[in-house]
Amino acid sequence: MTAKIVRLNLQHTWTTTMSSSQYRDTLHVAYTRDGITGHGEGAPIVRYHEDAEGARKAVESVRDLLLSANPLQFSKVMAEVFKRVPGEWAGKAAIDIALMDWVGQKLSVPLYTYFGLDPKDTPLTTFSIGIDTPEITKQKTKEAADFPVLKVKVGLATDEPTIEAVRSVTDKPLRVDANEGWKDKEEAVRKINWLEKHGVEFIEQPLPAEMIEETRWIRSRVHIPIIADEACQRASDIPKLKEAFDGVNVKLDKSGGVLEAYRMIMIAKALGMRTMLGCMVSSSCTVTAAAHLSPLVDYADLDGNLLISNDPFHGVRVEKGKLILPGKPGLGLTAA
Ligand code: MG
Repeated sequence: MTAKIVRLNLQHTWTTTMSSSQYRDTLHVAYTRDGITGHGEGAPIVRYHEDAEGARKAVESVRDLLLSANPLQFSKVMAEVFKRVPGEWAGKAAIDIALMDWVGQKLSVPLYTYFGLDPKDTPLTTFSIGIDTPEITKQKTKEAADFPVLKVKVGLATDEPTIEAVRSVTDKPLRVDANEGWKDKEEAVRKINWLEKHGVEFIEQPLPAEMIEETRWIRSRVHIPIIADEACQRASDIPKLKEAFDGVNVKLDKSGGVLEAYRMIMIAKALGMRTMLGCMVSSSCTVTAAAHLSPLVDYADLDGNLLISNDPFHGVRVEKGKLILPGKPGLGLTAA
């Protein structure tokens, strides 16, 4: 087993309410047994107080367990990893994804088949437009011509000019992510109702994660769905979000991998909530793993691999916005 930090370079400087960056470091795990190698990745981010070195140490702390365990008992193995490692969700995701890739290859089935899913049911993915000047926003919108639905990052003082810049070059449906950027519930209601008039389908995380009661207040005053992202990291977060949000954005890097993401999707569905799969800036490894679960969800925002210039893998592809899953066993990755 190897655990190494890989620096992924961004094509454009990537700005959201949280940060502005030209690269991201993610943790890559390769797990080899019986001549089969499973690949996993996790993208630690500052928002959740994680970094790549912490993720690497977390993986090393369970090296002995992983090397002595039977990987076909992956659910038992991951339960033990979750018990032994506090936090470090991206590190846990890298382990889980590597194990699931290994298991799929060992059983000679693609991961979607393991979960009983039909690869034709994948949703469209959005392509994300980070926060930028109106001129660059227009340029990025034009570059996203192949995507029928776009996701636009807002949450700074420039929200209206950003949306107007996008709207000046396209009338496609938009989804908007405020990344906790609005701090005031009345401002959020005004902005959401303005966005609805501009063809926005839903709003993701308008207020800070802890402002659940204020988000419930907003929800009763707007028409478009409100989706939880930063407020919904793991399965145990979902029940308390039910009154405030219409749906949840599940990411493998937040949940600690494929198994926990599957459980979150099932819990959200059981509570009558909409489901979405998202991602961090990461390679095709994590994005493909998430895409294998995407036949289960209403919305996908799985474009983190499309934002980088040095992807080590080929995996899921996108044709006119539709996610196309590889048919090979496991994740179905090949080296780029
Ligand atoms: Mg988000």
